[in-house]
Amino acid sequence: MKRKFCLIAVVIAGSVAAGLSYYVNSGSKADAHIISSYVPDKTYGNAGIGTEKSSGELLEKPLKKPSENSHDISREEEQSDKTEEKINISECSIIVDDVEYSGEFTEPSIKVMHGGTALKCGTDYEIEFDGKTDRGAGKYYFTVTMTDKYEGSIEKSYNVIPQRVSFSSVNTRVSDFELNWTASENVDGYEIEISPNSDMTEQETLVIEGGDNTSYTKTKLPWNSTYYVRIRNYVYDENGTEKIYSLWGDIETVSTKQVEVIDGVTYIDGTLIVNKTYSVPEYYGSGLDEDALGAFTEMADQASADGIYLYIVSGFRSYWTQYSTYNYFCSERGISQADRVSARPGHSEHQTGLSMDINSTSFSFEDTPEAQWLDENCWRYGFIIRYPRGKEEITGYAYEPWHIRYVGRELAEELYNSGLTLEEYFGITSRYDY
Ligand SMILES: [Zn+2]
Repeated sequence: MKRKFCLIAVVIAGSVAAGLSYYVNSGSKADAHIISSYVPDKTYGNAGIGTEKSSGELLEKPLKKPSENSHDISREEEQSDKTEEKINISECSIIVDDVEYSGEFTEPSIKVMHGGTALKCGTDYEIEFDGKTDRGAGKYYFTVTMTDKYEGSIEKSYNVIPQRVSFSSVNTRVSDFELNWTASENVDGYEIEISPNSDMTEQETLVIEGGDNTSYTKTKLPWNSTYYVRIRNYVYDENGTEKIYSLWGDIETVSTKQVEVIDGVTYIDGTLIVNKTYSVPEYYGSGLDEDALGAFTEMADQASADGIYLYIVSGFRSYWTQYSTYNYFCSERGISQADRVSARPGHSEHQTGLSMDINSTSFSFEDTPEAQWLDENCWRYGFIIRYPRGKEEITGYAYEPWHIRYVGRELAEELYNSGLTLEEYFGITSRYDY
């Protein structure tokens, strides 16, 4: 039935206007309705005359309007120009896609649809853009004005969204990670999602106001945990209320450091850690670590070639040796001063066999060529100056230019180049809880 109706409509439309074929061809119910409401005045007579098998549906509609139906054909034709019903823009849908800012103004793709059919720009409607200048990301306006068989105009908006941003680097630590990105130009802020799942469900959303930001650190996370993170930026619309977002950047995977506690000894990403927070058991350790001693020997040989004489004044210290040492400092200076310069038993790096005091534990060592050589070169052999100047709040110890710790060549170089202490690098504390 519907098919037959459409066929008749084609005949009718052909006699009215080529433009109508848009509707006829689509064949939807909505279109059929529009045709019957649009054409009767002008074409009802034709349909009646020219179509032997008249469609009941088409014929019935005009019959419900006796006043129109009683007119003769010539009068109806006269009236048709005056009463021709145009299709109002309110019956059309306007589809506009957001545009990603590219550095210059970009026109969006705009579709004006009527009943499933795309109308033609320039024939059926005109578009006028407002503010067609390079204003960057934001909300833009345009006016659609219908022409020909259509009428009405409407103002619409579309978004020029900011260019997407992704993380440039991610630094992980024991219980936090730092996300870095390059600041986007002319944006008002960023939104970061952190999810335990790769599909970004159960995510936490963080809003960072200010386009100049380039970093965010997420803290207090559990060890050995993996997260998925992504970022997008936004600008406010001209009213300062609605946020216009970029697309999301690439999803990055980020894991906090691997922390293992084996027989009471803590390893972070494989590196043994001892400080005021992390201790070793009383029975742990029996002498200098072989690798550490070998590295020292190599370093001392090289140093002597440079005219620098390095020797170990204190290497391995057992729990009970440290017990005596610490108590000596306590009786001499009191607990708070002792804690600045001497570890409590179980908290001394010397018990690990990985640390050594070189040449002298007197502050006069600081100004010697040996101290300077050690400071500049020990990383080449896998050592770090464990308690640098100005980092007492972080390491828990006053500056000790003589105390070196073996961490292996790779980590030593990374720490030397970054200027970070072990505490900063792994994101850990050094604080007694007793
Ligand atoms: Zn030491």
